Amino acid sequence: MVTDKLYDLIIVGGGPAGLAAGLYAGRAMMDCLILEGQGPGGQVMMTHEIENYPGFIDPISGGNLSANMYSQTLRFGVEFVSQPVRELKINDKIKTVRTSEGAFQAKAVIIATGVTPRLLSVPGEAEYTGRGVSYCATCDGAFFRDKTVAVVGGGDTAVKEALFLTKFAKKVYLIHRRDQLRAEPVQRQRLLASPKIEPIWNTVVGKVHGDGNRVTGLSLNSQQGGRPPQALHVDGVFVFVGRQPMGPMEGTGLIVDTDGYIKTDEDMQTNLPGVYAVGDVRSKRWRQIVTAVSDGCIAALSAAEYIEENFREED
Ligand code: NAP
Repeated sequence: MVTDKLYDLIIVGGGPAGLAAGLYAGRAMMDCLILEGQGPGGQVMMTHEIENYPGFIDPISGGNLSANMYSQTLRFGVEFVSQPVRELKINDKIKTVRTSEGAFQAKAVIIATGVTPRLLSVPGEAEYTGRGVSYCATCDGAFFRDKTVAVVGGGDTAVKEALFLTKFAKKVYLIHRRDQLRAEPVQRQRLLASPKIEPIWNTVVGKVHGDGNRVTGLSLNSQQGGRPPQALHVDGVFVFVGRQPMGPMEGTGLIVDTDGYIKTDEDMQTNLPGVYAVGDVRSKRWRQIVTAVSDGCIAALSAAEYIEENFREED
């Protein structure tokens, strides 16, 4: 059922980019709805400690930062509805967003659906997900007190989460497919200085092994050729090999890049009039919380201008 109300703006996604867009939309007196399937926060909720978000001298947890952003946005009269979005009909002047329970309409839409963890796609991964294979150290780290775990990946997420896991695990292997980390220098230094972390370079995971109940180890393949697979005993494996864009983009007519991220101009405008994309789901180079909130601000201001120019005589 389509609701009778016509919103000025619907924001799809309630992570930092969506919440920042909502904050600016609320302050611009727009009638704004945020739709989010999993509650506010997005990927940031999975981050135990953030120390590069300006304005906080001490590290802040992802949960607390998200809760603050959510409360701040609600102060300006933005509606928040917790329903997963199933379909976007955003080609027409009036846009329709379908959820699992109904449909909502607006003059403009901001897509802030974020990303989801990329899988290793090796045998055993799916079978042991939740039974030793994890994509969230904040959620599952405490289950590995005094155990041995592996982290897969060499980016900021893998390195940060490997360091976090040293609080619980007695040993953390960092398995990376090259011999150089992609993570920012300060994190690289911390990782290499940690006595609990042992990097395994030029290596990929070939298989996750288990006893039918839980993970017991990994088969590792060297990237340097000619070497037989190595067995590594671990009690858990944390996979941080990047992310992929989320959201019901098929059939929308949105132009995306080769990896599926939505293309925009510098005003966050997509190829469809009145449709904007912000945060990690947008095609861009630097994916940080601070760049996500910046995207959100720009999109909300752009959407306000678009509505003013395209709907003025109808109100
Ligand atoms: P990422 O930067 O894309 O790193 C993914 C890592 O996984 C890379 O090291 C990559 O190897 C490796 N990888 C990819 N596919 C693989 C496969 N199939 N098997 C084995 N390894 C594989 O992803 P991310 O670490 O999730 O970060 C995403 C974005 O968020 C980045 O822009 C990052 O800077 C940002 N971020 C920032 C912070 C922060 O505190 N500033 C924290 C988290 C994330 P290669 O290096 O060989 O490509």
